Amino acid sequence: MKLVFASGNRGKIREALEILGEGFELLTPAEAGILEDIPETGQTLRENSLQKARYLYERTGMDCFADDTGLEVDSLGGAPGIHTARYAGEAKDSAANIDKLLREMEKAGGGRTARFRTVVTLIVGGETHFYEGVMEGSIAKARSGSGGFGYDPVFMPEGYDCTAAELSEEEKNAISHRGKALRAMAAALKK
Ligand code: IMP
Repeated sequence: MKLVFASGNRGKIREALEILGEGFELLTPAEAGILEDIPETGQTLRENSLQKARYLYERTGMDCFADDTGLEVDSLGGAPGIHTARYAGEAKDSAANIDKLLREMEKAGGGRTARFRTVVTLIVGGETHFYEGVMEGSIAKARSGSGGFGYDPVFMPEGYDCTAAELSEEEKNAISHRGKALRAMAAALKK
């Protein structure tokens, strides 16, 4: 089965292919003829992932899916949420994002619990389906580990005494928000 995935990120595409397993082929937007940035102007993760999937579907007519992920920190009232990628500015700079997060949490005081949430929108045969995955955890006071990406060096998954950046790719995929959402999508597609 051929699916267009609203991501040009090699790591994400490899992860999705591993989770979907045999019998699936993924195309990037560019491979499906979409060269421009896909708009993302919604107010929720679900709106954003739906907007991206619809954008692809309307232009290619192919089965497709999109994901959108946010980090929700309880002591910050759920921020950065939909602003996770650009928390410290348009540059999507992970180091700057983490610095801002640690600063804002110092200012706010309070607890350190947080979660990553991913919403996947799948459009297949013209029908729209949503899948959600959550990874609970807490924000460490300082970075550790060199694996992963984004906020991984300060995100400690619940039940682990280390950050997500200290887990192997396999260990992280088994518990991650995106892993859970993509496995739910894969299970539905295989039915
Ligand atoms: P996106 O929706 O996949 O672009 O994710 C939004 C932002 O969330 C990314 O730019 C990352 O900074 C962050 N993010 C998403 N997934 C993860 C993860 O598994 N670990 C750490 N940060 C993540």
